[in-house]
Amino acid sequence: MFFRYAPLMVPHPITTTRIGPITRAPPDGQANLLDGVGTAAEFDLATKMAKLTTAVEPENAPLELTAHNVRGEPVTFAEAARGDYRPFHVGDRWGPPWSTTWFHVRGRVPVEWTGKSVVAVFDLGFQGHAGFTCEALAWRDGKPWGGVDPNHRWLPVGSSEVDFYLEASAIPTAVVAGPAEAPSMIALRESKDPVFVFRQAELRIQDPSARKQALDFKVLYELALALPEGDRRAEILEALNRFASRKDHEDLKGVLSRPSMSTHHITAVGHAHIDTAWLWPLRETRRKCARTFSTALALMDEYPDYRFACSQPAQYAWMRESYPTIFEGIQQKVAAGQWEPVGSMWVEADCNLPSGEALVRQFVHGKRFFMREFGVDTRDLWLPDVFGYPASLPQLIAESGGEFFLTQKLSWNDTNKPAHHTFMWEGIDGTAIFTHFPPADTYNGNFTAGEIVRSAEDFKDRESSSRSLYLYGWGDGGGGPEPDMIESAHRLRSIDGAPQVELGRAADFFARAKREAHNLTTWVGELYFELHRGTYTSQARTKRLNRRAEQALREAEIWSAAVGEGYPADVLDSTWKRLLINQFHDILPGSSIDWVYEDAERELEAVIEIAGHITTSAQSSLAGSGDNLTVFNVNSHARREVVEVDERPVLVSAPACGWASTTDLAPTHFEPVSVSGRVVENGLLRVMWDERGLLTSIWDKEIGREVLSAGAPGNALLLHDDNPKNWDAWDIDADYRKSFVQLAELARAKVEMEGPLRAAMRFTRNFGSSKLEQRMVLDAGSRVLRFETEVDWHEEHKFLKVAFPVSVRSSRATYEIQFGHVERSTHTNTSWDQARFEVCAHRWADLGEPGYGVALLNDCKYGYDIQGSVMRLSLLRAPTHPDPAADRGKHRFTYALMPHPGDFRDAGVIAAAEDLNHPLRVVRGGINTGEQRSLLEVDTPQVVVEAIKRAEDSDAVIVRLYEAWGGHCRARIRTSLPASRAFLCDLLERNRDEVEMRNGELEVELAPFKILTLKLVG
Ligand SMILES: [Zn+2]
Repeated sequence: MFFRYAPLMVPHPITTTRIGPITRAPPDGQANLLDGVGTAAEFDLATKMAKLTTAVEPENAPLELTAHNVRGEPVTFAEAARGDYRPFHVGDRWGPPWSTTWFHVRGRVPVEWTGKSVVAVFDLGFQGHAGFTCEALAWRDGKPWGGVDPNHRWLPVGSSEVDFYLEASAIPTAVVAGPAEAPSMIALRESKDPVFVFRQAELRIQDPSARKQALDFKVLYELALALPEGDRRAEILEALNRFASRKDHEDLKGVLSRPSMSTHHITAVGHAHIDTAWLWPLRETRRKCARTFSTALALMDEYPDYRFACSQPAQYAWMRESYPTIFEGIQQKVAAGQWEPVGSMWVEADCNLPSGEALVRQFVHGKRFFMREFGVDTRDLWLPDVFGYPASLPQLIAESGGEFFLTQKLSWNDTNKPAHHTFMWEGIDGTAIFTHFPPADTYNGNFTAGEIVRSAEDFKDRESSSRSLYLYGWGDGGGGPEPDMIESAHRLRSIDGAPQVELGRAADFFARAKREAHNLTTWVGELYFELHRGTYTSQARTKRLNRRAEQALREAEIWSAAVGEGYPADVLDSTWKRLLINQFHDILPGSSIDWVYEDAERELEAVIEIAGHITTSAQSSLAGSGDNLTVFNVNSHARREVVEVDERPVLVSAPACGWASTTDLAPTHFEPVSVSGRVVENGLLRVMWDERGLLTSIWDKEIGREVLSAGAPGNALLLHDDNPKNWDAWDIDADYRKSFVQLAELARAKVEMEGPLRAAMRFTRNFGSSKLEQRMVLDAGSRVLRFETEVDWHEEHKFLKVAFPVSVRSSRATYEIQFGHVERSTHTNTSWDQARFEVCAHRWADLGEPGYGVALLNDCKYGYDIQGSVMRLSLLRAPTHPDPAADRGKHRFTYALMPHPGDFRDAGVIAAAEDLNHPLRVVRGGINTGEQRSLLEVDTPQVVVEAIKRAEDSDAVIVRLYEAWGGHCRARIRTSLPASRAFLCDLLERNRDEVEMRNGELEVELAPFKILTLKLVG
């Protein structure tokens, strides 16, 4: 995502100033920059700077173009080179949206230019800056050569004959805000109208000394603007004015060479944030990477001190696959220390929504790639642009061998700005990670003196540290640093008025900063992002598919591990990566164009299908052939519950992480469920509703108390107006609550099942052009009241929530996060509480008072708010930007209310949420009646198994489990997997200690929320 649209980030006017070799005139408004500068500016410095810039490229000669347009998917260079090239002229239109035009560029350097520095300069019809408009990859001798974008417009010409190709992508400008709905990018793919006008293709001579003077002037001019009134500023202005009149370079050199007196050290790292998909689809990002990485490699040849940090192994993997020469170039530059792999995760993943195990796999696949391809063991988690960070992340960083965390995103908070830039971040388990927020509050720095000076001035932890990191280069859509930024860096290395600046590596910054820092503040708990709260809900189909894909992979792994032979390691590896890439921070959160969701839904469906095949094949191998029912349970607690076999309810049971043959079990030990009029009840709950289908009472028969608040209906469906001011798909504004209607009209009510094992009522509601059907289900012996919901959704700028006002009073509610849970206030005492008016949770949230509580479970939702005694879950949104039809159409989801005596831990809320998400699977097989096997049993419900899989590098079995209650415990684990030895490992499955194992049993101690990775060796 890009800071340009952020309401909080008002760029300093100087940020638009650039005097690169191809800028002809200062941008509009630049002359105003001089207002108030100096007391008697005898010369217009901005005009002077523009003249200097023009003097950099004094002469030009034309280039000849021919063009070949390719619609649809991109083609290889070899294919493109065989294309039908037609004459093309500067001034012609090109590029129907999302098509590719290959330009063959030919020309001859005039003989009188021999020995001069010559560049080919292009303007493809750029609209805006790098990353958000058309861009091209230059190919020379059949190989990628360099990126061409608004901020990298010239290519060096080394011979008299010019002959190369430009592969130009016609990327239309997406619309992320505005009164009219955004254009559909899927529809635009069909458009035949070219959208760009090719404005420039010519050879130019560069005058190096004129360029040097222009850059010196620019840096000093910007520094003067950044400094307060005083001697140093007056001295610089005087020198600039003197230079402007005398044209003596020495005037500039004098003020440039006075060294910095600052004690603050900035490590400046070149960077190009490339959103793996956002306002462009994955296939375009692959090409964006090729363009940006080519540019970075060329700059490294030109500037040996240039360092470039690059995250997201998935993008490197694309290069290895599609652009081998770029990948080789990267390998060489990594070895030379110029190219720095950072980040550790496979992509810069969203961290609110992926499951715990999915976050683990982000590290596993990311770090293993960097180690295998480059021999680099990254120590940082690099997520500058992600929308919030759960309190389990510090442990995941540490357990994967990392020690540093970087983001800047919380500088966007709408209510409370972060109080620190360098601090220790402590997670729910007590792990503390050295954390740095670059004080420039951007990952797209422009290397103006103003940004550098402010970066040091704004650094909030001066008393503890004298170092900060600065990320510069065009980003979001890629591009990266331009030569002028590196030139600025050289001039700002040590200059009076600015901090000390070095071009360096993030890893070196982190190591030095951690070593030198002292008395750092510790921040405990989640790094909640006070913005983009709609991303827990937008693009609900993708979120549901994501949850199901995570579940499907878990099942595929555990049952394949049970089979042992023929573990489909390669298929699981590639299928995991298909899931992981779709957890990127603009895909899963719902903030991308429609095309991205067309891809994401197809990919996630494929993941579910592939994993489903693996599970089916493993289960049929485990169950054998025959006609007996075999019940598979992936969860780590034994279960007895009602399932539907051939649409008939059957009570079955299965052991933890295992399977059992089953026949119908009679519900002897609990009362059956029954329906009578508008009442459904089992031995535990009596649920009543009115003629509108709204719940009027949930009576807890066991405890003898009413669950719902007096006078307020339960399962109230509320349709809010949802018109965020700034970021449509991203945000929910706090005032959405003021305007809503309750969906109280009932079109139809019907009893579908009357007991004794299962009762089900169907309620149908029509509203607007939409329709909502709910099947309310209560099983015998169960406290879980399920609402299986289907919605045909055709609203616009509406937000659907379900509310349960309950008779429970507590100032805190508990929400599941990955590998644990956190508490948040149910009131708005402080600005921090107020800002959390919508929060993220995984499968459950619970509101509890001593002795009693109510949990609200879900099978694919993430947005909650619990205020006072009202528990609400976010169901659907309908934004119009950047996807004009986001979320319209069919949806399916289930949520459930679980009133319970006692604390949520003892009451089994965690297990109930797992069960809702992982229904028992019943297959026909040949195992004998009464036979059963548990792969793994843990003797305490405090410990939950997250994954059972084969090791990445051997036939050993990996078991990942965690302490889920937040307390210390000792757990005895019994396994029937072939295992004679057991090792405790880190998340990357590297052995730490051996654990004593006897007869398939071992004992471990767990601290609160501790994650353990066990390796069982046969
Ligand atoms: Zn981003």
